[in-house]
Amino acid sequence: MRIALISDIHGNLPALEEVLKSTVSYKADVLYCLGDTVGYGPFPNECVELVRKHCLVALKGNHDSGLLGETPIEDFNHYGLSAIQWSQSVATEEVKEYLRGLNVKTEVNGITLAHSSPLNPEAWTYILTMRLARENFEAYTTRLCFVGHTHVPIVIGEDGTINKYSLALRSIINVGSVGQPRDENEKAAYGLYDTETGAYELIRVAYDIQRTARAIREVGLPEFLAQRLFQGS
Ligand code: ZN
Repeated sequence: MRIALISDIHGNLPALEEVLKSTVSYKADVLYCLGDTVGYGPFPNECVELVRKHCLVALKGNHDSGLLGETPIEDFNHYGLSAIQWSQSVATEEVKEYLRGLNVKTEVNGITLAHSSPLNPEAWTYILTMRLARENFEAYTTRLCFVGHTHVPIVIGEDGTINKYSLALRSIINVGSVGQPRDENEKAAYGLYDTETGAYELIRVAYDIQRTARAIREVGLPEFLAQRLFQGS
């Protein structure tokens, strides 16, 4: 079975639409979403509707949680905060209800999924050091754990190697971000995992950034949120 792992869509509908097309051309059998479907971007309702329709499993991220008032909005930076407040004002009851029902971590099909980290997922920790990675390897039992949250794709091997995916290693894999990549690559990112062969691949997809940027300006979100999409930062 080929699993497409998408994360951090952040209300970027043009990016999500292209990624969905890409998962079809790569013949993904199922889609799992690792959370943060809303926040930053101008299409929160549309993105949640598509995730609900296409993703067999979906998790809750910190921005989803912020929109629901479950995570204090003081925890967000200036840009995140203004986008969450705007998203709260436009989110439909149906969308809120759906987001409310999502988990922050799960195990499915022999893999672990979390938005931020398998250890203490609701603390929204960023796995940015080897010490944190080591602690997280102890917090789940499957070979692979897929995460999002940092918007930077990375494969961390249990032996401390970085970006050297190996079938013989337990790994924490960050699949990057569909709607707001921050690894200096403006293309949408998602992961593709084959349960039969064990192969993992990061896919990059070009999309119409201008369309998202125009919509960000139209709804009055900060200009920085449009600009950063062109830089992938
Ligand atoms: Zn995010």
